[in-house]
Amino acid sequence: MPQQSSAGAKRIAVIPGDGIGKEVIPEAVKVMKAVASARGCDLSLIEFDWGADRYLRDGTTLPPDAVDVFRSDFDAILLGALGDARVPDNRHGADILMGLRFKLDLYANVRPCTLLDSRLTPLRNRDEKDIQFTVIRENTEGSYVGMGGFFKKGTADEIATQEDVNTRKGVERILRFAYEYTRKHGRKRVCMSDKSNALAYGHDLWQRTFAAVKRDYPDIESSHMYVDNLLMQMVRDPSQFEVIVTCNMFGDIASDVGAQLAGGLGLAPSGNIHPGHVSMFEPVHGSAPQIAGKGVANPMGAVLAAAMMLSYLGLVEESRQMEKAVRAAISEGKTTADLGGSLGTREAGDWLARRAESA
Ligand code: ATP
Repeated sequence: MPQQSSAGAKRIAVIPGDGIGKEVIPEAVKVMKAVASARGCDLSLIEFDWGADRYLRDGTTLPPDAVDVFRSDFDAILLGALGDARVPDNRHGADILMGLRFKLDLYANVRPCTLLDSRLTPLRNRDEKDIQFTVIRENTEGSYVGMGGFFKKGTADEIATQEDVNTRKGVERILRFAYEYTRKHGRKRVCMSDKSNALAYGHDLWQRTFAAVKRDYPDIESSHMYVDNLLMQMVRDPSQFEVIVTCNMFGDIASDVGAQLAGGLGLAPSGNIHPGHVSMFEPVHGSAPQIAGKGVANPMGAVLAAAMMLSYLGLVEESRQMEKAVRAAISEGKTTADLGGSLGTREAGDWLARRAESA
């Protein structure tokens, strides 16, 4: 593992990964560096070459000491995307992404869905004030823990099981995180979503825990929706939501719907957070093999993920400058093709860096 430098600097591990991750992360780094140098703040960025190329070369996925080194020597991690057709089972991606999420216990996946310009939403007659919500997804439990198995695999009698794990501790901490996030961001409403009418055990635990936790936050308006209704309501009237908190699988789905409402995958950032611990930030999109290598990927999701990371590290003004640059680029049409512009990934990054520096 690389060594650290510059005492007092914020130490950030950068993992570009695969596909468009390798194109958008350098742009996010460029914008961060521009803001940091304009404001005189010290960032120490150390790159890790983990991804499909490295895995195919020497078998490395997540090195055994990675988690300890990240815990002791780093403040945050910026990740691009993992996924490559040459690794069909995505073994390296699962080891690196799920390994970091689970081993660093990054239990809150935070996905802001903020419409930055009314022209970007597919909804009719909606503007910026209508789409400003955050999906908070439980990130370490549920159906994604990988518990289950096959019986009589490959036969006509095959059985496959996939366990859905919900613990009192896990549910309580994500609900408390959602309420604290709501307070911290000056919002007033939390909507908890589950499927307790059908999942009578796991989501009954969500119901009972929610009933107990919400009593500690009388200043916040609490509501509940079954997840099928939630997705319908997000499309029908997104303005009713401020913070949505839900389980791992439903959060995965709801946050992609939210990303589309707010302008598409190219723009959506996310954070994998454990308050007070080293946390990891990434664009919501994946490696997008169809467009990888063409220099057309939108770097804004990565730039906004880096901005979220700086805000998490207490560099709030630097984060604001990056977000302002993205808003300016959209309103002046300095964007990649997915948002209707004609810039390539690098040109879009250059424009954002210049604007962020002078903001
Ligand atoms: P993975 O398997 O790694 O998740 P994927 O192709 O399944 O990759 P995404 O990477 O999420 O899924 O992308 C789906 C599609 O969305 C892409 O093919 C592309 O058309 C579009 N897209 C995603 N990210 C971007 C981006 N940053 N800029 C422009 N288009 C994007």
